[in-house]
Amino acid sequence: MDNPGDQPSTPSPHRFQEYAKLPLLNGVNIEQISNHLEQCEKVQLTAGELLLSPHNPNNKMFVILDGALSVHISVLKNEPITLLKYGECVGEMSVFDGKEPSAYVVAEEDSCLLSIHRDILWTMVDTSHAIARNLLYFLSHRIRFGNDVYNDSLKSAKEHQEHANLDALTNLYNRRWINEKFQSEINKAKFEKRSLSLVMIDIDHFKLLNDRYGHLAGDEILKLVSNKMKALLRPGEMLARYGGEEFAILLPNTSTETAIRIAQRVRTGIEQCEHIDQSSGDAIHVTISAGISQLGKADSLESLIQSADQALYKAKDSGRNKVCY
Ligand code: GH3
Ligand code: MG
Ligand code: MG
Repeated sequence: MDNPGDQPSTPSPHRFQEYAKLPLLNGVNIEQISNHLEQCEKVQLTAGELLLSPHNPNNKMFVILDGALSVHISVLKNEPITLLKYGECVGEMSVFDGKEPSAYVVAEEDSCLLSIHRDILWTMVDTSHAIARNLLYFLSHRIRFGNDVYNDSLKSAKEHQEHANLDALTNLYNRRWINEKFQSEINKAKFEKRSLSLVMIDIDHFKLLNDRYGHLAGDEILKLVSNKMKALLRPGEMLARYGGEEFAILLPNTSTETAIRIAQRVRTGIEQCEHIDQSSGDAIHVTISAGISQLGKADSLESLIQSADQALYKAKDSGRNKVCY
């Protein structure tokens, strides 16, 4: 310690003894900065009172002496991201960079704060290395906390995104995902001049099943067929629910011959499945029809789907439970 303000003090009770335990003054000779502390004010807040807002410039740092403050980002009515208690600071960021506060800070309960004006804070820093070090500690704490909040929100944004791409009934990817993912795979296949196949699948006579066993049983069968198809596919074979009782499988880097083999694997797998209807006890067997298309130079996602659909009609017309291309 080469700064006169930081010489260890002989413990003697003085006016500012109540501040001695504040982390901001950790290792600081309070007597040496007492003339600065004299210029600081004590601020009383009642519960619910707004202290800082991104709309109001701020030139003070506040240290909590008693009570608690909550911090809210974006809008005030959002849940607090953190609760600050004795010894913690707010406002120091806007004091350092001269910008508006980045969050709303509200008294969570009746609180008492030590208010330190920017000019006084800088004078204290000039007087005491220990205060500068303590402020650095606060700052690094703030940055770490900011990183944690950022990581959490990134994670939840990712989860939301993932959720938006899933079909609620079958938990398969949905049409929205098809539009994004299939399109990007088509772009990639064209750029890399690789083959790409699409299989469109439709459950046979599904309306009859609904009519006979009811819509809820129909839903159960849709779930069963979805899970079974998922289990029959391998990584890279991209399955999604196109809508209703229709599904799509995108097969990057796959020739028509291989796509036929894959579609036959799925078709026979579903054919061998049995579902027992809860109310009637009937063993229900389901079959699917599939149509295949192969990406051509001039194809778009729409035309690729259209070609697979035409092949699917052929499969239906020629007796169902078939794969056509
Ligand atoms: P095809 O072999 O020609 O495809 O006959 P189909 O009966 O399967 O075809 P159609 O298009 O006539 O009927 C499809 C049925 O699928 C009608 C619709 O009520 C049912 N369906 C679509 N989505 C759902 C769903 O989410 N749950 C249930 N239970 N039924 C659905
Ligand atoms: Mg259909
Ligand atoms: Mg159908």
